[in-house]
Amino acid sequence: MSRFWSPFVKDLVPYVPGEQPKLQRLVKLNTNENPYGPSPRALEAMRAELNDSLRLYPDPNGERLKNAVAAYYGVTPNQVFVGNGSDEVLAHAFHGLFQQELPLLFPDITYSFYPVYCNLYGVKFETVALDEGFQIDVADYARPNGGIIFPNPNAPTGRLLPLQAIERLLQSSPDSVLLVDEAYIDFGGQTAIGLVDRYPNLLVTQTLSKSRSLAGLRVGIAVGHPELIEALERIKNSFNSYPLDRLAIAGAAASFEDREHFERTRQAVIGNRQVLVAGLERLGFEVLPSTANFVFARHPGQDAATLAATLREQGIIVRHFRQARIEQFLRITVGTPEQNQALLEALHTL
Ligand code: PMP
Repeated sequence: MSRFWSPFVKDLVPYVPGEQPKLQRLVKLNTNENPYGPSPRALEAMRAELNDSLRLYPDPNGERLKNAVAAYYGVTPNQVFVGNGSDEVLAHAFHGLFQQELPLLFPDITYSFYPVYCNLYGVKFETVALDEGFQIDVADYARPNGGIIFPNPNAPTGRLLPLQAIERLLQSSPDSVLLVDEAYIDFGGQTAIGLVDRYPNLLVTQTLSKSRSLAGLRVGIAVGHPELIEALERIKNSFNSYPLDRLAIAGAAASFEDREHFERTRQAVIGNRQVLVAGLERLGFEVLPSTANFVFARHPGQDAATLAATLREQGIIVRHFRQARIEQFLRITVGTPEQNQALLEALHTL
């Protein structure tokens, strides 16, 4: 610890991202990347940007991307915000959209970046326990709050809430922002974006890192009422006016325009998930119903930390969390049929 650090920095407990190993031959099923790669049209659009125009700053508003998102979802561009990964979009939301007087509510088992942002931006929060089935019960959130956030489907459980439940919550909490983090929505869920015109307190975030296979490009979006978007723009313009570079704007826009690649690859992941779940169940695992590109599974007779370590020795990485109630679970990204088979075979011999 340096004597030059401010007390504020000394107290920061940062988010710890999943391992990004250098070895390519590993079967990497730990950070929910997409095995199928981005749209060829996105790659083409980025190649077309690799020229002298890189000496110029990008469009600070990312209009080309906002227009593509607006067209894709049938909203207007002023209902769209774009940022450097949904993590950055979330950071701006934590910075300025939640009230300070009452606590922000989120599940006790959820994306572990939320408490980190709360601590960074001084947002009071309370966690709400998931039910016995590791599901969010929206009735538990129907009380005065400074905002509500959860992923749908939730992470790392993979469990989905139906839109009716989200709408019930919007009706019971009309005076604070509900942020639905749809990082994994494209793998079988129904987006809440269709509700933003009716509920001015709803903000939906999505990422291009999962279903669009562009984790390395770092692009996330938010869709909501123009006033919420305007707040995010103010914060962004007080922080970094150019969060998206020229390649990211072009590639992400083209990704939204290529519906065929998107449909085909997400259906492939959904199909692979079914095979993976069936294989794990045959090996005696209990697998939570998943609507994401990962599954959350535990074995009644085997210790999860030991399983993860043993798989690691065999070159297969999965994610294990040392958190109460879920320490016996493994979170396994849905890979290609070959990767999933390698995992199942390794588990079979353990
Ligand atoms: N929300 C959830 C629930 C996630 O799991 C992730 C990925 N770790 C993110 C947001 C952030 O994704 P990205 O910054 O790559 O858009």
